[in-house]
Amino acid sequence: MTAVSAVLQQTPSAEEWGARPSIVVEPPGPRARAIVERDRAVTSRAYIKEYPLVIARGRGAMVEDVDGNRYLDFMGGIAVCSTGYSHPKVVSAIQEAAARFLHICGSDFYFDGMAALCERLAELAPGPSRKRVFLTNSGAEAIEGAIKLARYATHRTALIAFKGAFHGRTTGALALTSSKAKQRAGFGPLLPDVHHVEYPNPYRAGCHGAELVERTIAAIEDDLFARHLDPGDVAAVFVEPIQGEGGYIVPPDGFLRRLRELCDRHGILLVCDEVQSGVGRTGRMWACEYDGIEPDILVTAKGLASGMPLGAFIAREELDRWEGGAHGSTFGGNPVSCAAALVTLELVESQLMANAAQVGAELMAGLCQLAERRPAIGDVRGRGLMIGVELVQDREAKTPAPHLVRQLVERAFRQGLLLLPAGRSTARFAPPLVVTAEQVAVALEILDGILGQLQPS
Ligand code: PLP
Repeated sequence: MTAVSAVLQQTPSAEEWGARPSIVVEPPGPRARAIVERDRAVTSRAYIKEYPLVIARGRGAMVEDVDGNRYLDFMGGIAVCSTGYSHPKVVSAIQEAAARFLHICGSDFYFDGMAALCERLAELAPGPSRKRVFLTNSGAEAIEGAIKLARYATHRTALIAFKGAFHGRTTGALALTSSKAKQRAGFGPLLPDVHHVEYPNPYRAGCHGAELVERTIAAIEDDLFARHLDPGDVAAVFVEPIQGEGGYIVPPDGFLRRLRELCDRHGILLVCDEVQSGVGRTGRMWACEYDGIEPDILVTAKGLASGMPLGAFIAREELDRWEGGAHGSTFGGNPVSCAAALVTLELVESQLMANAAQVGAELMAGLCQLAERRPAIGDVRGRGLMIGVELVQDREAKTPAPHLVRQLVERAFRQGLLLLPAGRSTARFAPPLVVTAEQVAVALEILDGILGQLQPS
């Protein structure tokens, strides 16, 4: 028996792992502590490491650490493990592809998996226009490519992004990112000619719905374009259909439609960053479908290949007029990642998108019920399995409570529920799309217990 088949045979199936976490040793246990110590001595200080989880293996939405503790994972490796941990169909596609060839540079040569994946992504991207696809290693690399294509295609330089946005950490993507000052501090000057405008946040803006949409559009049209920036200089607007790292903020319906109109009026490209919100997470393949728009460029990564490194930007064909050699990537579109992505998209389309919508609605309903009796919850928002719970010090004043989010995430970890913060004061729920209703019920029970002990004052 090979080492791989031994691991597969000894690992229970997702069903066998059940829904309940089991903490057998106070985490971090002795094995975890030893690895944390080794890691801390040699890895870059730039890493945050939210809490001392040291993973040994995982299935479905469950993770086991090196000391045998089992956790229910509601952060999905930061919204990446779309098909769950090591889905058997994804693992076997990876094994098969790896056994054939590990690498051939897709920028220079051809292979079946790359053609098939680009065909699939071109079909799945929203809107009627024909599309062309460029494959990358990560979200940030795909954003970089989208910036370059937008500038190349429009012969314009200025870019608009939103306050609170997260588009990645490479220098170009970082210029668009405005989520935490710490992420930019010490790295300037970044890409010039990037302009940030307010993202419509219905919980904090003081108005909502159509009024908030109009206020947001007016801030661009009547303020930014009137006083500061000629729209004829703007290559593209970059927008997250649901703001991710910024706090899982869902803009009002119609926001993307009005943004689309504004872009069309001025010949500006609309780039939807679906790195976190895409690949079925919101109950549709792409979150921008909720507003029925066609972006000029759609950017995806994270869940696309179930955790194998892969990103893509998908552009309307008429924009993709750059010359051969204008852009490239040695590893982008790695054959093993492409094989994982093809199976991931099939699973998401055939089952998991529907599961995200259905189980996501149950999670949302449960969290809203919790909010009725737990005053630390100021707001519950989201779509499908992309849900944010904003904690506050005081419901009336909506005072952000980052310390409560830290306490919640920390205590949840100790009780076997994996969560992550987002934005200033929000806990995010982004479990693998295979999560079950039973697992949601268990997570809600754990949350209820912890929230009952948190003191908002
Ligand atoms: N865009 C969005 C919306 C993201 O959430 C992220 C990562 O969190 C990125 C881009 C960057 O992706 P990566 O970390 O793969 O570079």
